Amino acid sequence: MTAYDYLVVGAGLFGAVFAREAALHHKRVKVIEKRDHVAGNIYTKEIDGIQVHQYGAHIFHTSDQEIWDYVGQFATFNRYTNSPIANYKGQLYNLPFNMNTFSELWGVRTPAEAQQKIDRQRAGLKLTGTPRNLEEQALSLVGTDIYEKLIKGYTEKQWGQRARDLPAFIIRRLPVRYTFDNNYFNDTYQGIPIGGYTQIVEKMLASELIDVETGVDFFDHRAQYLRDYPKIIFTGMIDQYFNYQLGELAYRSLQFKTEELAIDNYQGNAVVNYTDAETPFTRIIEHKHFEFGKGAAGKTIITREYPKIWHRGDEPYYPINNVKNNELYKAYAALAKNEKQVIFGGRLGQYRYFDMHQVIHSALVAAKKELE
Ligand code: FAD
Ligand code: UDP
Repeated sequence: MTAYDYLVVGAGLFGAVFAREAALHHKRVKVIEKRDHVAGNIYTKEIDGIQVHQYGAHIFHTSDQEIWDYVGQFATFNRYTNSPIANYKGQLYNLPFNMNTFSELWGVRTPAEAQQKIDRQRAGLKLTGTPRNLEEQALSLVGTDIYEKLIKGYTEKQWGQRARDLPAFIIRRLPVRYTFDNNYFNDTYQGIPIGGYTQIVEKMLASELIDVETGVDFFDHRAQYLRDYPKIIFTGMIDQYFNYQLGELAYRSLQFKTEELAIDNYQGNAVVNYTDAETPFTRIIEHKHFEFGKGAAGKTIITREYPKIWHRGDEPYYPINNVKNNELYKAYAALAKNEKQVIFGGRLGQYRYFDMHQVIHSALVAAKKELE
């Protein structure tokens, strides 16, 4: 036995929130992390005064005042509003789908004209009932032109599957608006932490009651951890924890290719999506624009994001929440229920397409249940 009350596996947002809450309840916590840094996928690193989002663009957004206040304890957020640009075969369009997009596509000027255009495209499609997949959902929301130019190619390369085999909820993440408003999110609060995300996790873990060890994989010492720690918070892959005994859950992986360029401004926006099927990457992030150009003059850093098939050993960035995988996850969740020593949490532990605010919420709920 150790002197610790908890072992937290994974120093991402879920693990860090849980560890902090436990320490506030006077518990001793050991955190292990297999990467060589804390913060999981929200990790940012300063290069030339630019906060580089090492695992893809992260924009914090929430409508939950409590979550916004909670995260505000660890960083000051700027007024960044995400407004990606779509590049379809060299033509630029505003995202999400709004009056600017409709006007760029069709030359329409009023919401009524845009609605009419979309209605006409939908009318020819014989869509009835609740959309059964992403393709039906997208067509019923925005019609054929937008689906073909801004959704189909991007979606199919992002997920490596046909849009008609993907769940509808994925596309419902994006607003459709009949106003000239390029804000990608509908949430009340949004921003980027000034000075990056890593500080948030570092501050959560900065307690005399928390010890953090990076470069350590739970599975290298699993038996010992289970023997020594009364309770374990596991934020890695739930199917791996159970040794894939019921089968493998599917994930989507990514490769990030980052370049430093000797120019001030490469694309004029933080995020540009390449929505055609042929371009092998989905988006280019120009990191300095998350903080309105802050950083060394004459330099910029861009990252191309290439989706790829996940194999064991790759980083599992996205759960693929289709019916088959959700059923398999349910079977793992049933096993997890009997594993009384372990709490499974986060994007991988709960196999959910969680955004940051949802992970914080879920970790706070788990901590409350466990600690109070
Ligand atoms: P993670 O951050 O994955 O942390 C889990 C940690 O556990 C990792 O550090 C991992 O290395 C470690 N670990 C796993 N297995 C083991 C093991 N066996 N032993 C030791 N350590 C282990 N959310 C937003 O709100 N806004 C966005 O704009 C946004 N953009 C995103 C873009 C991309 C490309 C991706 C992939 C995600 C994005 N997200 C965004 C989601 C956000 O990254 C997650 O909600 C959040 O990081 C999940 O936190 P977590 O702690 O659950 O998981
Ligand atoms: N999407 C799209 N075209 C775009 C951007 C997004 O078709 O230009 C679809 C795609 O299926 C994607 C989903 O909308 O997976 C959700 O997009 P989001 O930006 O929320 O994805 P994330 O940032 O989580 O990768």
